[in-house]
Amino acid sequence: MELLRTERGRFGAATLGVDNQAALCLTEITKPRPGHHLVREVETLVQDVRKKRPNLQLLGHWTPGHSNIEGNEMGDVEAKRAARGQSSNPKHLPKAFRQRLPHSAAARKQAYRKRADKVAGQMWSASPRYDRLAMRDLRMRRPLRFFHKATMKLTRRQHNLLVQLRSGNIGLNGHLYRIGRALSADCPHCDGVIETVGHFLQVCPKYEKERQALQRRVRRPESIAELLTNPAAFKRVLRFVDDTKRLSTIFGDGD
Ligand SMILES: [Zn+2]
Repeated sequence: MELLRTERGRFGAATLGVDNQAALCLTEITKPRPGHHLVREVETLVQDVRKKRPNLQLLGHWTPGHSNIEGNEMGDVEAKRAARGQSSNPKHLPKAFRQRLPHSAAARKQAYRKRADKVAGQMWSASPRYDRLAMRDLRMRRPLRFFHKATMKLTRRQHNLLVQLRSGNIGLNGHLYRIGRALSADCPHCDGVIETVGHFLQVCPKYEKERQALQRRVRRPESIAELLTNPAAFKRVLRFVDDTKRLSTIFGDGD
């Protein structure tokens, strides 16, 4: 369309080879949608061309894959070059493409929500209420019967340890402080951070080394609920507790 608008000479008819059927029908669309500015741009171009060439016959033609269209390969090469940032001199581009293209509102919103979700998630998982709720969730998710069955092969000590980890009533400062058995709820290694089960199992940098054996998946570490509900993880959790020796004054050094 830009060529029809700018080239000199007379043409009786012009055929637009379009490989996208949806694009061919786009002139009907009134609701804004991603890429709508391009549709508007084409509409303006069509109007300009019609004004300049009132007798021109314009034909839209569906040409899947642009096959057998002269210049298609060359067009592809140029498009790839432009995508790499090697665009033509702005002076030679159609007016609409001389400045930056508008952003898609939908894409911007999606990116914003994703960022907000991430920040909210970080804030939430750092809050002391997170652990308590996570624990409640995990107790609701699987019936206690299931837990008892899964722990039948464990020793009494291991069983008790898991029960305490799941309930949060355990010899970590977060709980000890709540029941008046510690002067502070803080982790002994992290100032100003409450020592919850979540902090102990998943966060505290002091136990980074021990944690390597706890988490099998590096990319997406198991959540605290997974660790404490999935029988396949019990042994790893118990080993972690033993390795850290954090609870050894209460539970001894393991079997
Ligand atoms: Zn810590």
